Amino acid sequence: MKDTFKHKGMRQQLVDVLATKGIKDKAVLNAIGKIPRHLFMDSGFIDHAYVDKAFPIAADQTISQPYTVAFQSELLQIQPGHKVLEIGTGSGYQCAVLIELGAKVYSIERQQELFKKTSKFLPKIGYRAKKLIFGDGYKGLEEEAPFDSIIVTAGAPFVPKPLLSQIKVGGRLVIPVGDDVQTMTLFIRKGAKAFEKHELGEFRFVPLLQDKN
Ligand code: SAH
Repeated sequence: MKDTFKHKGMRQQLVDVLATKGIKDKAVLNAIGKIPRHLFMDSGFIDHAYVDKAFPIAADQTISQPYTVAFQSELLQIQPGHKVLEIGTGSGYQCAVLIELGAKVYSIERQQELFKKTSKFLPKIGYRAKKLIFGDGYKGLEEEAPFDSIIVTAGAPFVPKPLLSQIKVGGRLVIPVGDDVQTMTLFIRKGAKAFEKHELGEFRFVPLLQDKN
Protein backbone atom coordinates (compact mmCIF):
# COMPACT_ATOMS: atom_id res chain seq x y z
CA MET A 1 0.00 0.00 0.00
CA LYS A 2 2.32 2.66 -1.26
CA ASP A 3 1.73 6.26 -2.20
CA THR A 4 4.69 7.41 -4.28
CA PHE A 5 5.76 10.72 -5.83
CA LYS A 6 4.55 9.34 -9.15
CA HIS A 7 1.06 8.84 -7.68
CA LYS A 8 1.12 12.32 -6.18
CA GLY A 9 2.08 13.79 -9.53
CA MET A 10 -0.70 11.93 -11.33
CA ARG A 11 -3.13 13.09 -8.66
CA GLN A 12 -2.17 16.71 -9.17
CA GLN A 13 -2.86 16.30 -12.88
CA LEU A 14 -6.28 14.90 -12.05
CA VAL A 15 -6.97 17.91 -9.82
CA ASP A 16 -6.03 20.20 -12.72
CA VAL A 17 -8.42 18.31 -15.01
CA LEU A 18 -11.27 18.68 -12.50
CA ALA A 19 -10.58 22.40 -12.15
CA THR A 20 -10.67 22.73 -15.96
CA LYS A 21 -14.01 20.92 -15.99
CA GLY A 22 -15.45 23.52 -13.63
CA ILE A 23 -14.84 22.36 -10.04
CA LYS A 24 -14.07 25.50 -8.03
CA ASP A 25 -14.24 24.51 -4.37
CA LYS A 26 -10.64 24.58 -3.11
CA ALA A 27 -11.33 22.29 -0.18
CA VAL A 28 -12.79 19.65 -2.52
CA LEU A 29 -9.85 19.92 -4.93
CA ASN A 30 -7.41 19.68 -2.00
CA ALA A 31 -9.15 16.57 -0.70
CA ILE A 32 -8.91 14.87 -4.10
CA GLY A 33 -5.26 15.95 -4.30
CA LYS A 34 -4.58 14.25 -0.97
CA ILE A 35 -6.46 10.94 -1.13
CA PRO A 36 -4.60 7.99 -2.69
CA ARG A 37 -7.42 6.86 -5.02
CA HIS A 38 -5.25 4.04 -6.42
CA LEU A 39 -5.46 2.27 -3.06
CA PHE A 40 -9.26 2.06 -3.42
CA MET A 41 -8.91 -0.07 -6.55
CA ASP A 42 -7.61 -3.60 -7.09
CA SER A 43 -3.86 -3.50 -7.53
CA GLY A 44 -3.96 -4.62 -11.18
CA PHE A 45 -5.81 -1.48 -12.14
CA ILE A 46 -3.97 1.31 -10.39
CA ASP A 47 -2.95 2.85 -13.70
CA HIS A 48 -6.61 3.78 -14.09
CA ALA A 49 -6.83 5.51 -10.73
CA TYR A 50 -6.01 9.03 -11.85
CA VAL A 51 -7.94 9.31 -15.07
CA ASP A 52 -11.32 10.96 -14.75
CA LYS A 53 -13.36 7.76 -15.11
CA ALA A 54 -15.57 5.51 -13.04
CA PHE A 55 -14.10 2.06 -12.49
CA PRO A 56 -15.36 -1.42 -11.47
CA ILE A 57 -14.73 -2.47 -7.85
CA ALA A 58 -15.91 -5.64 -6.05
CA ALA A 59 -19.45 -7.05 -6.28
CA ASP A 60 -20.32 -5.49 -9.68
CA GLN A 61 -20.18 -1.99 -8.24
CA THR A 62 -18.16 1.04 -9.29
CA ILE A 63 -16.00 3.69 -7.74
CA SER A 64 -17.59 6.91 -9.02
CA GLN A 65 -15.85 9.11 -11.56
CA PRO A 66 -13.67 11.73 -9.80
CA TYR A 67 -15.59 14.55 -11.51
CA THR A 68 -18.85 13.17 -10.14
CA VAL A 69 -17.38 12.85 -6.64
CA ALA A 70 -16.12 16.44 -6.83
CA PHE A 71 -19.40 17.75 -8.27
CA GLN A 72 -21.53 16.13 -5.56
CA SER A 73 -19.10 17.10 -2.80
CA GLU A 74 -19.14 20.73 -3.91
CA LEU A 75 -22.94 20.81 -3.84
CA LEU A 76 -22.98 19.68 -0.20
CA GLN A 77 -21.13 22.85 0.94
CA ILE A 78 -19.57 21.00 3.85
CA GLN A 79 -18.20 22.89 6.82
CA PRO A 80 -15.89 21.18 9.31
CA GLY A 81 -17.97 19.40 11.93
CA HIS A 82 -21.01 18.88 9.68
CA LYS A 83 -22.89 15.66 10.24
CA VAL A 84 -23.20 13.96 6.85
CA LEU A 85 -24.96 10.78 5.73
CA GLU A 86 -23.75 8.94 2.65
CA ILE A 87 -25.86 6.27 0.93
CA GLY A 88 -23.69 3.76 -0.96
CA THR A 89 -20.29 3.42 0.76
CA GLY A 90 -18.89 1.29 -2.08
CA SER A 91 -15.09 1.57 -2.18
CA GLY A 92 -15.15 4.26 0.53
CA TYR A 93 -13.55 6.88 -1.74
CA GLN A 94 -16.39 9.41 -1.51
CA CYS A 95 -16.49 8.76 2.23
CA ALA A 96 -12.78 9.62 2.47
CA VAL A 97 -13.40 12.88 0.59
CA LEU A 98 -16.15 13.81 3.07
CA ILE A 99 -13.90 12.99 6.03
CA GLU A 100 -11.08 15.04 4.48
CA LEU A 101 -13.54 17.97 4.26
CA GLY A 102 -13.99 17.73 8.02
CA ALA A 103 -17.40 16.04 8.08
CA LYS A 104 -18.55 13.51 10.64
CA VAL A 105 -19.60 10.78 8.26
CA TYR A 106 -22.21 8.06 8.57
CA SER A 107 -22.27 5.82 5.51
CA ILE A 108 -24.63 2.98 4.57
CA GLU A 109 -23.86 0.08 2.20
CA ARG A 110 -26.33 -2.69 1.25
CA GLN A 111 -23.82 -5.12 -0.22
CA GLN A 112 -22.25 -7.21 2.52
CA GLU A 113 -18.99 -8.11 0.80
CA LEU A 114 -18.24 -4.45 0.04
CA PHE A 115 -19.37 -3.35 3.48
CA LYS A 116 -16.88 -5.74 5.11
CA LYS A 117 -14.04 -4.91 2.77
CA THR A 118 -14.41 -1.15 3.07
CA SER A 119 -14.98 -1.25 6.84
CA LYS A 120 -11.53 -2.82 7.19
CA PHE A 121 -9.81 -0.76 4.54
CA LEU A 122 -10.76 2.83 5.42
CA PRO A 123 -9.32 2.90 8.96
CA LYS A 124 -6.22 1.13 7.66
CA ILE A 125 -5.37 4.16 5.54
CA GLY A 126 -6.36 6.58 8.29
CA TYR A 127 -9.96 7.49 7.39
CA ARG A 128 -12.35 7.04 10.27
CA ALA A 129 -16.05 7.46 9.59
CA LYS A 130 -18.27 8.03 12.63
CA LYS A 131 -20.13 4.91 11.62
CA LEU A 132 -20.27 2.52 8.66
CA ILE A 133 -23.59 0.73 8.49
CA PHE A 134 -24.67 -2.44 6.69
CA GLY A 135 -28.23 -1.62 5.75
CA ASP A 136 -30.73 -0.19 3.30
CA GLY A 137 -30.13 3.43 2.41
CA TYR A 138 -33.73 3.97 1.28
CA LYS A 139 -34.55 4.29 4.98
CA GLY A 140 -31.80 6.77 5.80
CA LEU A 141 -30.59 6.63 9.41
CA GLU A 142 -33.40 7.83 11.65
CA GLU A 143 -31.50 7.32 14.93
CA GLU A 144 -28.78 9.79 13.93
CA ALA A 145 -30.99 12.34 12.13
CA PRO A 146 -31.09 15.24 11.44
CA PHE A 147 -28.07 15.65 9.13
CA ASP A 148 -26.48 18.79 7.72
CA SER A 149 -26.45 16.97 4.44
CA ILE A 150 -27.14 13.65 2.76
CA ILE A 151 -25.42 12.38 -0.37
CA VAL A 152 -26.71 9.45 -2.42
CA THR A 153 -24.08 7.79 -4.64
CA ALA A 154 -26.33 5.37 -6.53
CA GLY A 155 -29.07 6.12 -9.06
CA ALA A 156 -32.41 6.46 -7.26
CA PRO A 157 -35.59 5.70 -9.26
CA PHE A 158 -37.40 8.16 -6.94
CA VAL A 159 -36.52 10.38 -3.97
CA PRO A 160 -36.94 8.33 -0.77
CA LYS A 161 -39.13 10.32 1.67
CA PRO A 162 -37.05 9.46 4.78
CA LEU A 163 -34.03 11.17 3.25
CA LEU A 164 -35.89 14.46 2.83
CA SER A 165 -37.20 14.29 6.38
CA GLN A 166 -33.76 13.52 7.85
CA ILE A 167 -32.06 16.76 6.75
CA LYS A 168 -31.94 19.84 8.97
CA VAL A 169 -33.69 23.04 7.97
CA GLY A 170 -31.03 24.75 5.84
CA GLY A 171 -29.56 21.33 5.05
CA ARG A 172 -28.97 19.69 1.68
CA LEU A 173 -29.78 16.43 -0.06
CA VAL A 174 -27.81 15.61 -3.23
CA ILE A 175 -29.28 12.69 -5.14
CA PRO A 176 -29.09 11.40 -8.71
CA VAL A 177 -32.67 10.63 -9.72
CA GLY A 178 -33.70 8.44 -12.66
CA ASP A 179 -33.54 4.92 -14.08
CA ASP A 180 -31.01 4.54 -16.93
CA VAL A 181 -29.74 8.10 -16.77
CA GLN A 182 -30.05 10.22 -13.64
CA THR A 183 -30.57 13.92 -13.11
CA MET A 184 -28.35 15.23 -10.33
CA THR A 185 -30.84 16.83 -7.98
CA LEU A 186 -30.17 19.16 -5.06
CA PHE A 187 -32.83 19.75 -2.42
CA ILE A 188 -32.34 22.54 0.13
CA ARG A 189 -34.67 22.38 3.10
CA LYS A 190 -36.28 25.76 3.73
CA GLY A 191 -38.75 24.77 6.43
CA ALA A 192 -40.56 21.80 7.97
CA LYS A 193 -42.31 21.06 4.68
CA ALA A 194 -40.61 23.45 2.28
CA PHE A 195 -37.85 22.32 -0.09
CA GLU A 196 -36.08 24.16 -2.86
CA LYS A 197 -35.22 21.85 -5.79
CA HIS A 198 -32.43 22.31 -8.35
CA GLU A 199 -31.70 20.00 -11.30
CA LEU A 200 -28.06 19.99 -12.29
CA GLY A 201 -27.36 17.84 -15.32
CA GLU A 202 -27.21 14.18 -16.26
CA PHE A 203 -25.05 11.46 -14.75
CA ARG A 204 -24.92 7.67 -14.77
CA PHE A 205 -24.76 5.63 -11.58
CA VAL A 206 -25.28 1.99 -10.63
CA PRO A 207 -28.84 1.59 -9.30
CA LEU A 208 -29.96 2.22 -5.74
CA LEU A 209 -31.47 -1.17 -4.85
CA GLN A 210 -34.09 -2.00 -2.23
CA ASP A 211 -33.08 -3.92 0.90
CA LYS A 212 -29.72 -5.26 1.91
CA ASN A 213 -28.11 -8.35 0.45
N1 SAH B 1 -19.60 6.15 -2.97
C1 SAH B 1 -19.04 5.00 -3.65
C2 SAH B 1 -19.81 4.72 -4.93
C3 SAH B 1 -20.24 3.30 -4.96
S1 SAH B 1 -21.38 2.83 -6.21
C4 SAH B 1 -17.55 5.15 -3.89
O1 SAH B 1 -17.02 6.25 -3.68
O2 SAH B 1 -16.90 4.18 -4.25
C5 SAH B 1 -22.90 2.80 -5.30
C6 SAH B 1 -22.95 1.92 -4.09
O3 SAH B 1 -24.29 2.00 -3.57
C7 SAH B 1 -22.69 0.44 -4.34
O4 SAH B 1 -21.67 0.00 -3.49
C8 SAH B 1 -24.02 -0.24 -4.01
O5 SAH B 1 -23.89 -1.53 -3.42
C9 SAH B 1 -24.63 0.75 -3.01
N2 SAH B 1 -26.09 0.68 -2.86
C10 SAH B 1 -27.03 0.41 -3.79
N3 SAH B 1 -28.27 0.45 -3.25
C11 SAH B 1 -28.11 0.76 -1.93
C12 SAH B 1 -29.00 0.94 -0.83
N4 SAH B 1 -30.32 0.81 -0.96
N5 SAH B 1 -28.48 1.25 0.39
C13 SAH B 1 -27.14 1.38 0.55
N6 SAH B 1 -26.24 1.21 -0.45
C14 SAH B 1 -26.71 0.91 -1.67
